Amino acid sequence: MENKYPLVWHKDDFQIKVFCSIPNIATGILIKASDNYFIVDPGDGILRDLNSEIGTKNILDVSDIFISHGHHDHVGGVWTLLTYMRVLQKSTPLSLHFPKGCKEIISIYRAFEQVYSNSIPYKIILNEIPDTKEFKSSKGLTIKPFPVIHKEILNDRVTKQQVPAIGFTFEHDGKKICYGGDTAYCIELENAAKGCDLAVIEAGHDEEEEGPDDMHMTLEEAKKIGNSAKEYFLVHIPE
Ligand SMILES: [Zn+2]
Ligand SMILES: [Zn+2]
Repeated sequence: MENKYPLVWHKDDFQIKVFCSIPNIATGILIKASDNYFIVDPGDGILRDLNSEIGTKNILDVSDIFISHGHHDHVGGVWTLLTYMRVLQKSTPLSLHFPKGCKEIISIYRAFEQVYSNSIPYKIILNEIPDTKEFKSSKGLTIKPFPVIHKEILNDRVTKQQVPAIGFTFEHDGKKICYGGDTAYCIELENAAKGCDLAVIEAGHDEEEEGPDDMHMTLEEAKKIGNSAKEYFLVHIPE
């Protein structure tokens, strides 16, 4: 099964566009709530997609970037965005929301600060998310993070280790989108997706591999969760 990207969904003035979501390659998601844009999991290619979709002014106006976890297919575009916003003179603050302990984002931020310390025209706010507490963005989006199960294989090629990883529900004007990020089947995702207007659910499990891998969901698992929402997209399917 292969997805045709981009995937677009909207209800009234709440919209999501998944430019792409391909495991090990890139993710890139844009949410629009009223006139405000939010970026989710900016993988490689995000700037190109945003540039053709919303243009420079709207990119510079973005106030929040949400990151589910630090794998390269979800954060590959962060450096590019930070640098683009510097070069094009963004003047409003930018919040980076990411799971507590996500070394990739902290390292990218520190390197950026170090390299351009004297010439960053906008304020960067790091929101290292420690728990599942709901919070609001400055632009009217309500966000509720939830923990997910997502592991990676260590150098011995056997041991699996949980990475800091979360999913989000995004709520605007009574409508709710659930984005699980990368995750194995888990109760937290099950609860978060239930009843949402849209669930964006990964089905990244390699179908040739048998049994749960603690990293991704099978198509069957993903559909089961998707079906508990009013509508759903399956993403991150291996190509
Ligand atoms: Zn991924
Ligand atoms: Zn991942």
